[in-house]
Amino acid sequence: MVTLPSSLVTLNDPLFKQKSLAVSIKRDDLIHPEVSGNKWRKLKYNLEEARSGNYEGLVTFGGAFSNHIAATAAACRVNGIPAIGIIRGDELTPESNHTLRKATDDGMQLRFVSREEYSLMCKETDFLASSYPRHFIVPEGGTNEYAIKGVREIWEELDQRYDYFLCPYGTGGTLAGLLSGNRKGTIMLGFSSLKGSFATPALTDLLDRFAIHNRSFRMVDDYHFGGYGKVTRELLSFISWFEETHQIPLDPIYTGKMMYGFYELVKRAYFPENSRILVLHTGGLQGKDAFEQIHSKKIR
Ligand SMILES: *Cc1c(COP(=O)(O)O)cnc(C)c1O
Repeated sequence: MVTLPSSLVTLNDPLFKQKSLAVSIKRDDLIHPEVSGNKWRKLKYNLEEARSGNYEGLVTFGGAFSNHIAATAAACRVNGIPAIGIIRGDELTPESNHTLRKATDDGMQLRFVSREEYSLMCKETDFLASSYPRHFIVPEGGTNEYAIKGVREIWEELDQRYDYFLCPYGTGGTLAGLLSGNRKGTIMLGFSSLKGSFATPALTDLLDRFAIHNRSFRMVDDYHFGGYGKVTRELLSFISWFEETHQIPLDPIYTGKMMYGFYELVKRAYFPENSRILVLHTGGLQGKDAFEQIHSKKIR
């Protein structure tokens, strides 16, 4: 079921040729049909810990459309680990959308809490640990030391040196994990899917917390398209164009925004000639069709 190392594919595009760039994409979206991309990497050692430690199950958190919730539910089903998902929004039910329906079908027990209670639970891990004393707790977005260890393994699958390595940014676990294993002078570019300029300080905090000293990253935070989970017609048509041209699907929340931003940077000659560039496809294709259907109706 698991395809590792994930495949590495050259992206041929007249634009890249014109700018003398060698571009490859690492298809982590193909690692697993249900637990794809960076979620698989981030969960690997968390699941190992949840299984080998003396736990009754695993507890984690997420929003209504969380890929992390979907991935964790599927991974726990496959591994026979009882899972509880704390979901932000007490107006929601297991029937609210595809992600929550699927998580429930995978056996995850969902607990819907108010936004206030949710942020309290995310911050006050002691409080949570006392509510679920015999459970292994995975933080929001799955970012912890186990996740960083799992993501770092991507480097072991790469033989070549790259000048730039691009990935999307959500909670920063993926970017932090990649930075923790970055030894060859590669510049990491994080594409934030969130509105605002807090991504850089948030990542810096995360790096401090995990004692990751490599700081060779740049944050690109102007391709959020209005913020997390927001899309525009232009973004969706770029995603369709990319998919038709390269036969590679992209999700509208993370990888589509990163790829759009990447093309814009290439057009603006951001990358010096002869640069070797690697783009990480972090997956996220679960629920893509449902998401696009809902949103294409709303956009003008
Ligand atoms: C969750 C997710 C991200 C964000 O990863 P972080 O480690 O939280 O920064 C990026 N891409 C996809 C497809 C995701 O599902």
